[in-house]
Amino acid sequence: MFVIRILLCVFLVALTACYGFKLLPSRRILPVKSCRSLRMGSSTESLVPLNTGPVDLTTVGTDIEILPPSIQQMKTVMKFGGSSLANAERITYVARLICKHVELGYRPVIICSAMGKTTNTLLSSGDFALGGQVFVDSIRTMHISAATQLGLSESTIASLEELLLELERLLEGIKYIGELTPRTRDALVSFGERMSVRIMAGTLNKMGVPAQAFDAWTAGVRTSSEFGNAEISEDSYSNVKAVLGKFDGNIVPVVTGFIGHDAKGRITTLGRGGSDLTATVIGAAANVDEVQVWKDVDGIMTADPRLVKTAQPVSAVTYEEAAELAYFGAEVLHPISMQPAIRSNIPVRVKNSYNPSAIGTLITSKRDLSNTLVTAITSKGGIECIDIISTRMLGQSGFLSNVFAIFEECQISVDVVASSDVSVSLTLDKKQREKGEIPQLLSKLGKFADVTVYEDRCIVSLISNIDRSAEVMSTAFKVMQMLSIPCEMLSQGASKVNISIVVQMKFKDMLIKALHACFFEGEKAEDLKPPSV
Ligand code: ASP
Ligand code: MG
Repeated sequence: MFVIRILLCVFLVALTACYGFKLLPSRRILPVKSCRSLRMGSSTESLVPLNTGPVDLTTVGTDIEILPPSIQQMKTVMKFGGSSLANAERITYVARLICKHVELGYRPVIICSAMGKTTNTLLSSGDFALGGQVFVDSIRTMHISAATQLGLSESTIASLEELLLELERLLEGIKYIGELTPRTRDALVSFGERMSVRIMAGTLNKMGVPAQAFDAWTAGVRTSSEFGNAEISEDSYSNVKAVLGKFDGNIVPVVTGFIGHDAKGRITTLGRGGSDLTATVIGAAANVDEVQVWKDVDGIMTADPRLVKTAQPVSAVTYEEAAELAYFGAEVLHPISMQPAIRSNIPVRVKNSYNPSAIGTLITSKRDLSNTLVTAITSKGGIECIDIISTRMLGQSGFLSNVFAIFEECQISVDVVASSDVSVSLTLDKKQREKGEIPQLLSKLGKFADVTVYEDRCIVSLISNIDRSAEVMSTAFKVMQMLSIPCEMLSQGASKVNISIVVQMKFKDMLIKALHACFFEGEKAEDLKPPSV
């Protein structure tokens, strides 16, 4: 049985200091790799259905209205995700949006993800190649037909054909060798972004805005060699600054998101959704005034709009809140992407490319919290809870240091921790379990503790004004009481902005809807109806 235990900040900080173990607070400071595991789904941009019917591209986006820059020449990064670039129509729209910005005096550097779901398609084509079949047709059709519809130049189409040929050869190689290493997989998925920047630069040129496509490495992006999950190398900042500094200010650079080169010049990727990170790295290196992340929602929302129909956009959050939201399941930004913005103190704005006049969410270092109780609710499913109870009467420090030493040995990091003298409860996400170290971890812990694993849990996080945490918790507990939802763990204080509740997965949706009703829609927890059994 779980007991509710409140974890105090002091405890976590002390623990982190004593054992050098990377718990929650360090995630925001250090580029901890496990953070990249956040996105459960493969693509973050899937909310808007694509328009497939014939459209007149000459009229698309001609009515876009945007606000002029706040300073005369405003340097920006504008990053567009896959769904913003899903087909010729969307690309035309985004290109017109960029043109409007340029006309008004913005000086943007463009970062593009792969078109639509190309990254997923490339990943499956790798698996097919392993199984003996080489398919490039769907990828060829998507890119060449978009380029043709857009009326791009022969040289742009030739550059796409060249990449498609290279892609086909790579897939043939995978088929014959019968092996798909992480390094090859990174080379494989890189084609998506490499084609999309060529198409975007071509479209801008055609519209009369001079633009040039860059593969991230030619713009100076260097990474570590962890294929599939590489970290940005420090020298990227000076490299990018030097490349873009020398570049003609009248030409718009269009750079691939998500990919880079390691020190040996091999292609790497930054983890799914990594274009957000490219955007803030380039923004920090080029010292822009604002990084704009263009998505298909009106910004960061008070809850997942697919679950809570009444979710509303949040106009402002801090870097810390955005990172915490991303880490705890909001599929809006890559969790590591706040780090370059923090280091250079560059504002990040999340905007909707389907609704450019919406103000979006502004992310900065500080904001006025005086009228805020809860900013947003997010959740992370697929969690396991582990209860570890000492079988020996070791003192607290001996017991805890043993437990965490084992987690460190097994390279497993945890999300939420709660402890007493002789017991610890903690949560592990799917990515940690996929490392395959859990049986070894449990057997090591089993030598001095009773260990129980609870499956199908989820973490519901309230990004809150911690100065009013008593109010937040009292409402949250009342909600759980009214709905008969047992709270299995509660953590407040590990982060300065997050109150996390662990419940069984089956209660997740009901709890989030009720919490949203109480914190954002004026519902009283006392008036909630208990579920009919
Ligand atoms: N295209 C890559 C992905 O789908 C990177 C990105 O979209 O940011 O994960
Ligand atoms: Mg993508």
